[in-house]
Amino acid sequence: MAAKAPQKSPTIGIVSLGCPKALVDSERIVTKLRSQGYALSGDYAGADLVIVNTCGFLDTAKAESLDAIGEAIAENGKVVVTGCLGKEAELIRASHPDVLAITGPHQYESVIAAVQEHLPHTHDPKIDLVPEGGLRFTPRHYAYLKISEGCNNRCSFCIIPSIRGDLVSRPANAVLKEAEGLVKAGVKEILVISQDTSAYGVDVKYAESKWKDRTVRAKFYDLAKELGDLGVWVRMHYVYPYPHVDDVIPLMADGKILPYLDIPMQHASPRLLKAMKRPASQEKTLERIKKWRSICPDITIRSSFIVGFPSETEEDFETLLDFIEEAEIDRAGVFKYENVEGAPSRELGDHVEEDVKQERWERFMEVQQDLADARGQAMVGKSVDVLVDEWESEDRVWKGRTKADAPEIDGVVRIKAAKKAMSEGDFVRVEIMAAEGHTLEGSVANHAYTRT
Ligand code: SF4
Repeated sequence: MAAKAPQKSPTIGIVSLGCPKALVDSERIVTKLRSQGYALSGDYAGADLVIVNTCGFLDTAKAESLDAIGEAIAENGKVVVTGCLGKEAELIRASHPDVLAITGPHQYESVIAAVQEHLPHTHDPKIDLVPEGGLRFTPRHYAYLKISEGCNNRCSFCIIPSIRGDLVSRPANAVLKEAEGLVKAGVKEILVISQDTSAYGVDVKYAESKWKDRTVRAKFYDLAKELGDLGVWVRMHYVYPYPHVDDVIPLMADGKILPYLDIPMQHASPRLLKAMKRPASQEKTLERIKKWRSICPDITIRSSFIVGFPSETEEDFETLLDFIEEAEIDRAGVFKYENVEGAPSRELGDHVEEDVKQERWERFMEVQQDLADARGQAMVGKSVDVLVDEWESEDRVWKGRTKADAPEIDGVVRIKAAKKAMSEGDFVRVEIMAAEGHTLEGSVANHAYTRT
């Protein structure tokens, strides 16, 4: 009798839009589907069904998500929608009535159920198809670690809490177990993300959980300390300057975690911060940054800002420019205010004209570029640790990042070296020879080393 042909695994494609938090959601979805025997395809043609994980943070992101859904329907036909825009099912159905199912953000079980309904598959549970640490969309040597969902703040320009709900922190031992698994799987840099990292654990009253031979609190400091013992780079994103953040700076000075803080400040004018209802807006941020620098001189401060928020005056805007210069913000992103549907700031009076927003955005970029150039030039002649990211075949250089650079959003180091001289995920010492803004160029120092 002929052997029974093995059942072909149905294949899923995924389009992941939006921020690293959404990327982690996509990773969880594909990890779960893979564990149930579904195969993955990198293109529409090879997929039996496509999941589109959408972003709904700004109106431009919504439009991009609707376009992506349309493209997936045109190219493949069988489409399940999830993510932040999933909250607006009517909007999606109005443009794309043929989508098979719509679920909201971090509703993993509903997405899986929708896939199973429209592409049924029975899997032998004894066959394990998922590597330790789960499936990831980032390169093997770095990973995002999401420590909580949702947000307790109510910034007036933001609709995230209405999409993702209030803060729900993961237990500390669950976060640490995942982090340890990532390190065992070869991760050299962990990027801690959430909507409000420094508020971690507030919702569970900093609950303790058992980790190895000790108990650990679900608290920003405790988490930073434990992660700092894993022997890899640990980078903190989305931190608000609450007073307890000061406690983490000595861990940076001691080399436990990276001397890097991503603090989305959004503005510097106290009046506007109040109108924005920003968390920790009353803290004396400039003084705090100066104090942090006195404890940890190497600290890099990344931030994002909004120009043209309703009622922003020329004076407010100049306060912002003075602030980024005086605080020496090392990495700054700037966005023009978007009047997002559903955001309370829509109701504020005195909206700023588009041409004024544009003009302020350009002036901000000029100051930002000067700061970047000065910062880059100050690196020339220095020898720095670099985590190697990828070989760029066109220019025949390696690309990597210093401790001051998060992937995708900050600067890069172009390293002149042969292809065989190193690999992705190596740590090397690089002597910086030239700089253009945040792009540095250098060659491997003669005392180069590879860590872990
Ligand atoms: S902190 Fe503010 S901007 Fe960030 S997710 Fe929460 S409400 Fe939105």
